[in-house]
Amino acid sequence: MSLPLAQRPVTDLKGVGAALELKLERLGIHTLQDLLFHLPLRYQDRTRVVPVGGLVPGQEAVICGEIKVADLVQGRRRALLCRIQDGTGTISLRFFHFSAAQKNQLKPGVRLRCFGEARPGPSGLEMVHPEYRRIDAETAVAVEDSLTPIYPTTEGLHQTRLRGLVTLALQSLSAEALPDLLPETLRRQWNLPSLEESIRYLHQPPVEADQALLLDGRHPAQRRLAFEELLAHHLSLLKLRHQAQHPGAPSLPYRGELIRPFLDALPFPLTGAQKRVCNEVARDLARTVPMLRLVQGDVGSGKTVVAAMAALQAVENGLQAAVMAPTEILAEQHHINFSAWLEPLGLEVAWLAGKVKGKAREKQLAAIAAGEARVVVGTHALFQDDVHFADLGLVVVDEQHRFGVHQRLSLREKGRNGARAPHQLIMTATPIPRTLTMSAYADLDCSVIDELPPGRTPVSTVVIADSRRAEVVERVRLACAQGRQAYWVCTLIEESEALQCQAAEVTAESLREALPGLRIGLVHGRMKPAEKAAVMAQFKAAELQLLVATTVIEVGVDVPNASLMIIENPERLGLAQLHQLRGRVGRGSVESYCVLMYQAPLSKQGRERLGVMRETSDGFRIAEKDLELRGPGEVLGTRQTGMMQFRIADLQRDADLLPRVRQVATQIEHDVELNSAVIRRWLGAGEEYGQV
Ligand code: ADP
Ligand code: MG
Repeated sequence: MSLPLAQRPVTDLKGVGAALELKLERLGIHTLQDLLFHLPLRYQDRTRVVPVGGLVPGQEAVICGEIKVADLVQGRRRALLCRIQDGTGTISLRFFHFSAAQKNQLKPGVRLRCFGEARPGPSGLEMVHPEYRRIDAETAVAVEDSLTPIYPTTEGLHQTRLRGLVTLALQSLSAEALPDLLPETLRRQWNLPSLEESIRYLHQPPVEADQALLLDGRHPAQRRLAFEELLAHHLSLLKLRHQAQHPGAPSLPYRGELIRPFLDALPFPLTGAQKRVCNEVARDLARTVPMLRLVQGDVGSGKTVVAAMAALQAVENGLQAAVMAPTEILAEQHHINFSAWLEPLGLEVAWLAGKVKGKAREKQLAAIAAGEARVVVGTHALFQDDVHFADLGLVVVDEQHRFGVHQRLSLREKGRNGARAPHQLIMTATPIPRTLTMSAYADLDCSVIDELPPGRTPVSTVVIADSRRAEVVERVRLACAQGRQAYWVCTLIEESEALQCQAAEVTAESLREALPGLRIGLVHGRMKPAEKAAVMAQFKAAELQLLVATTVIEVGVDVPNASLMIIENPERLGLAQLHQLRGRVGRGSVESYCVLMYQAPLSKQGRERLGVMRETSDGFRIAEKDLELRGPGEVLGTRQTGMMQFRIADLQRDADLLPRVRQVATQIEHDVELNSAVIRRWLGAGEEYGQV
């Protein structure tokens, strides 16, 4: 009988006790299956003896030869140096650490077999601390018959030990013990090797294996595993989507009684992109399955109008709409916009945030519960336990980027009303590269507002070193003297928010000294929401000319008269975040500037990244670049990194697999058992993001 490897703990292996078990746990290895999915980083070729004369610098190789000279040399460090020859050439072995016994053993005339990396030394190639073994002239030189894997490992766990464990685990590998979850027809159709084949190959590749391909992670055996892993993630998201849609939703067809007058009263026509996205949303709302739609649109692309139209469509059908923003400042701004638009239509917009307390809060709660409040705007406070909607038809979540998958799910649950769930519209200003939407957001449909309203002047971006700080300060003075307003954004590498805020305080102080007579305000994350809001309001009302801030101003705040932004140490932020920050300026009709003031010297990557900011204001291009330079975890934000951690797949490298993954997912969607097996194998027993 062969027990599934997924159910056999590593302690099943001979010689694995509690101590080793702990070390393996640090590598995420609990079962024999985990061990076999723990793939080598690279390989060494110990399958043949390389003639010394043919070695090239950087080559790792097995060599065989006779010691001609062995000397103690005094360089910067004392070393034992052995020159060995094999008839084709000479190479030195250099030992900085050696025992007396070693010194005695390594004498002229002794033959050695060594493995190491040939590096240029003071007198030709040398190997520093090679592995070596003494051999006799007669014995055939034993070599390995497959490439030697080098695994990612952890302190106290040696390669050879880990290698030994994998070899043991491979003895238990069979199609029965580790079932191939991809149906054979699919495998054949896509020309993918079997699971067993792939795993054996990757742990013990044959001599002729294409090492460059393996190192790149593009070997069919690796692609096969990456494919299954991507499939698992995708299926898991589809399952979520299915669960979310299961309850059904109220059909909210377009009627126009409110939307038409709303559009008539707008001071501008919708852009083509807005129209298209509004149509997509309107169609979703008419259906009886809950809409799960993500609207991506760059800063200033006009997402709020789209949200308002969706809300009106819910109200036209007699249901309520809730609009949620991640911060009070943003929620308040939405409240102001929505009120201005909807009150002329006879709709009062309710307001619920942390700072709404006591009587005012009770009044709002009563109006929401009675269904008198048709449109409610607020923060997370909207989804506290004591908030009951009479009949919620739509939830709009703005700036989704701040919310992780789990929050998205809990929102869905909160809004649930018996057998019906509300429709969901999620809006993000951070463009998400297509590869990521296809994976991380597979549970959502996507719309893109890929056009800005006419008449925007693009922000000119300059990149300068902080040695020119005085010039920058002067520039701020000039802009403010001309009646403009400016932001000064402080960033710090420190994790601690306290330190960041302190740094902002110090900066504000020094700017007050450098710019006497300027009205300077300060916002940072440690201020109370009310204090923050008060400062923001002052800046908005132009009572403040310069706003010093930490990155808390990142999202959504709209001050058209602000036309200059200084960002200190921009090299520390992600491109997407810089793009968001920069979006705070360029909202009015005057020409706007963004000064990226870096701390010299800038790394090559840093230069490249800031260069991207200077060259383009296209959020999608910036996001793609960010993904390329920093990887998906960074792009999606820390909240979501957890779910984006792949063992084998790499979203960028394997992006071309995604369309196929989607296709296969739909082909096997009906097979519940297979689905769970795939998800369980790759996402573990906690199973999926579904467990909120
Ligand atoms: P975001 O997508 O960043 O949330 P907003 O909805 O805040 O953008 O819109 C930014 C600004 O553009 C607002 O002042 C809004 O009134 C204005 N706006 C939106 N749509 C249009 C349009 N079609 N034409 C002109 N201005 C528009
Ligand atoms: Mg917005």
